[in-house]
Amino acid sequence: MKDYFVLSNGVKIPSIGFGTWQIPDGTDCYLSVMLALKLGYRHIDTALAYGNERSVGKAIRDSKLKREEVFVTTKLPAQYKTYDEAIKYFNESLENLGLNYIDLYLIHAPWPWAEVGKDCTKGNVEVWKAFVKLYNEGKVKSIGVSNFRETDIRPLVEETNFMPHVNQIRFFISNIQEDVVKYCKENNILVEAYSPLGTGKLLGNEEINEVAKKYNVSAARLCIKYCLQKDTLPLPKSTHEDRIKANLEMDFDISDEDMKKLDNVKIEELYRELRS
Ligand code: NDP
Repeated sequence: MKDYFVLSNGVKIPSIGFGTWQIPDGTDCYLSVMLALKLGYRHIDTALAYGNERSVGKAIRDSKLKREEVFVTTKLPAQYKTYDEAIKYFNESLENLGLNYIDLYLIHAPWPWAEVGKDCTKGNVEVWKAFVKLYNEGKVKSIGVSNFRETDIRPLVEETNFMPHVNQIRFFISNIQEDVVKYCKENNILVEAYSPLGTGKLLGNEEINEVAKKYNVSAARLCIKYCLQKDTLPLPKSTHEDRIKANLEMDFDISDEDMKKLDNVKIEELYRELRS
């Protein structure tokens, strides 16, 4: 397994990130992130909207790792769509985390979560201009988007001539978003796979477990490896030590034949296109 992906601007990003959505701020989040760092993760994914940046930042600072050894991603909440809000809430994230720069800053979604599908193109362009400014000032080492389709990304690039480095999307076995992934690959945008275990819902699937058994690995490890072999960067979340550890152990390869088998797994209730 490669240790990191390289973004289009040359920044290295550790190839598995630790997800922190739904880990409550305070002891739970602090201890989980501490544990993740102790067990070898060097990439933490959080968001202002998760409400746990303070604990994430404290764990990173207390880990005694050098700042440049840990790759930190956070996100601008989806409802903020003006230039000034982007700058304001970026500074709030920086303060919550207690860091002086962010490695990757993402627009959390193209529309507010309460209005999924709303056309916020104008607002996204404004926000993107603020992101480019933060990038040019060195306050963020890379910038990107999340939950964006091609039609959401294009206007940003047309207006600023700045291609996102990353698109973080819902990506896992049975939900592989072929159109947007193709566009991202053609444009050298790294795809990050969020919910690589389908928020845990893939783990009981019979077909997946059957393939996992062949490799003598858990369904979770198979799901994570699948994302890596699809050239996407998985962000598994767990609060349990044994799982946090296992989710990094990728010392096996899924054969082409089994990858095809997994490509064909259909789980209707988990399938969701971007924006719907
Ligand atoms: P995942 O797909 O990572 O699944 C997490 C679930 O699987 C939890 O219930 C966890 O339980 C369980 N689990 C984890 N590892 C194992 C294991 N080895 N064996 C058995 N069960 C396991 O879920 P998320 O939806 O949280 O996605 C991961 C990350 O992606 C988020 O935390 C966040 O950082 C990011 N994300 C981004 C979004 C966006 O809009 N940009 C949206 C959603 C997610 P337990 O914790 O109890 O171990």
